[in-house]
Amino acid sequence: MAKADVPQRDGPAAPLGVQPDGRLPLPWLADGLAAARRLSGAHALLIHGPAGAGHFDMAVLLAQSLLCEAAPTGAQATACGRCASCHLVATRAHPDLRLVLPAALRVQRGWTDEDDYIAPKGEAKPSRELRIDQVRAAIDWSQQTSGRGRGKVLLLHPADALNISAANALLKTLEEPPGQMRLLLTSADPEHLLPTVRSRCQRLALTLPPAAQARAWLQAQGLDTPDALLALAGGSPLEALAWAQDGLNPALLASLPRRVAAGDGSVLAGRPIPRVVELLLKLSHDAQVQAAGGVPRFFAAASLPAGADPTALRIWQQALQRVARHDEHPWSAALLIESLVSQAGAVWPAQGGGASLHSLP
Ligand SMILES: [Zn+2]
Repeated sequence: MAKADVPQRDGPAAPLGVQPDGRLPLPWLADGLAAARRLSGAHALLIHGPAGAGHFDMAVLLAQSLLCEAAPTGAQATACGRCASCHLVATRAHPDLRLVLPAALRVQRGWTDEDDYIAPKGEAKPSRELRIDQVRAAIDWSQQTSGRGRGKVLLLHPADALNISAANALLKTLEEPPGQMRLLLTSADPEHLLPTVRSRCQRLALTLPPAAQARAWLQAQGLDTPDALLALAGGSPLEALAWAQDGLNPALLASLPRRVAAGDGSVLAGRPIPRVVELLLKLSHDAQVQAAGGVPRFFAAASLPAGADPTALRIWQQALQRVARHDEHPWSAALLIESLVSQAGAVWPAQGGGASLHSLP
């Protein structure tokens, strides 16, 4: 499937929360909503679970249900999707809902029109952190009177992006939210949050949908043969869709391991470094598992070249992990990808990659 054929989920026009016909944005969140009802007294909730489980959509659904004007106060039933409040949430215009996201995620969603969008000041790229100025502005907002009288909701996504000073600035509000405010935090990695943040929240665990539901949802998004992408995404349909939007398809995935093993990086050229590194780390993981007699997780077993050299594989993995740890690279993207792929050639010398361990990044 060509990239242009893949529907974009996010974007300026994508409404949030329950649709007017009652549909959920992601069907597998129904279980999470039911579980959330049992936590309806929590003033601070940490929504966690594997990456790609739909944390943000879940948090918006909960915010919408807390603010819905057709639901009984405090009952946390599913939002109606039709009242004035639900409509305001859907269009990001609700005065009692504050969405705090890193600038980079806002740009990705096309939300640079908002009052609290923090434009990068003299920075090359929008920040991936939740910064203290965003948290302070949200705390100021939380102390104002509720606009529509059903309390307020402060949503921080993802809480992992809070830097230390921003997290510390939030603690008092987390401990004692003013008035009827609820806080909703999301995290794919709650063990890395500050313990002081974690301990002040009740928890709601999300899970990935069963494979059949994930497959059906991806097919409804226009992916006819989603299995290979779903495997690459570790079972997360949102991630699988993101890979499809990046231009990956089953044929390309099937040929990728051997092409990389032969030192051919053309299929990766022009892609963002973090995505390339993620793909190569998954490939190196599967090569290691297969060498140990296990079943590969991300790529089809038949697509993996045999005969990986264990020492070269380890060196390659370490180089990939070093690149993954750093946001900024002194190398040009093209040179870095060429170098990483050339090291893959050393892992599989029999594939004709022409081993060269030059200039490890
Ligand atoms: Zn409603």
